[in-house]
Amino acid sequence: PYEVLVIGGGPAGASAAIYAARKGIRTGIAAERFGGQVSDTMGIENLISVPYTEGPKLVAAMEQHVKEYDVDIMNMQRAEKLIPAARTGGYHEIQLANGASLKARSLVLSTGARWRQLGVPGEEEYRNKGVAYCPHCDGPLFKGKRVAVIGGGNSGVEAAIDLAGIVGHVTLLEFADEMRADEVLQKKLRSLKNVEILTSAQTTEITGEGGKVNGLTYRDRNSGDNHHVALEGVFVQIGLVPNTEWLKGDIELSQHGEIMVNERGETSIPGVFAAGDATTVPYKQIVISMGEGSKAALSAFDFLIRHEVP
Ligand code: FAD
Repeated sequence: PYEVLVIGGGPAGASAAIYAARKGIRTGIAAERFGGQVSDTMGIENLISVPYTEGPKLVAAMEQHVKEYDVDIMNMQRAEKLIPAARTGGYHEIQLANGASLKARSLVLSTGARWRQLGVPGEEEYRNKGVAYCPHCDGPLFKGKRVAVIGGGNSGVEAAIDLAGIVGHVTLLEFADEMRADEVLQKKLRSLKNVEILTSAQTTEITGEGGKVNGLTYRDRNSGDNHHVALEGVFVQIGLVPNTEWLKGDIELSQHGEIMVNERGETSIPGVFAAGDATTVPYKQIVISMGEGSKAALSAFDFLIRHEVP
């Protein structure tokens, strides 16, 4: 059994494992795919002190850093069920998809999230070649260019406002007949001169040429007509889905399915901590996940020294 068992091997999990192991306590990390979303990322320019790196390179560095310590790395292991300790300070159980189960006195849950995809032709093909999901990450790559934002909820409208200050022109496409974002955001968006808003617009295809996005096609849901918009970038903003389906019913989740955490990374179960994109922490970023992972591990250590095995 472990003293700290980390579930998830993205930036949050790697950071939690390192901080736990540095306390000299028995630490394990189980992940479906070590590296997480970083494995799918091309250029990274906002990891402080590293002006430029690429996803696979950062994943290799994270793994090497974890391996500096005495941590059991269990890659390609999917957690399917959490059985909380019967008494505070006792052992929690994690059941894995392969039928095995792991026990630990404290857990750090860091199973991350995934961007909801549109599922239209061209999206997969031009991912990272004009199709983007993170305006904080990739916005500056489109300086002065024309981009679309798909989705008129809060994240889409925030993204459009953010991008309008960087890119040349923004077209926002909303599927419904009106945007769902807060009125104050919609008002701000409407005040911007280089933004066009299209409602009742169903994006049907992302088009490209020479390996790069050159536009998108949408269907006007009122007239049924198809239109093509020429542009260089498409930001898909139709939701970030936390990988927490397996925890439903066992731990407190927000209405969006995020693990509820406080400022110490504590969840609704004593001895169970959480960090990163899977949680309610605002702003989903690598540097934030790393900070949250280290915080959750320090909280776990603090918990362990205050609780004996019952
Ligand atoms: P994740 O990276 O999502 O890792 C989750 C981990 O949990 C993975 O190992 C996964 O396999 C594992 N897992 C999931 N479910 C289970 C389960 N049931 N059992 C076991 N393991 C499980 N951020 C930046 O700061 N800068 C950028 O430039 C940037 N660019 C991005 C580009 C793209 C294309 C994407 C998708 C994201 C980008 N982000 C960027 C966001 C950043 O990648 C995330 O904020 C960060 O990876 C979150 O870290 P995390 O550890 O919380 O989760």
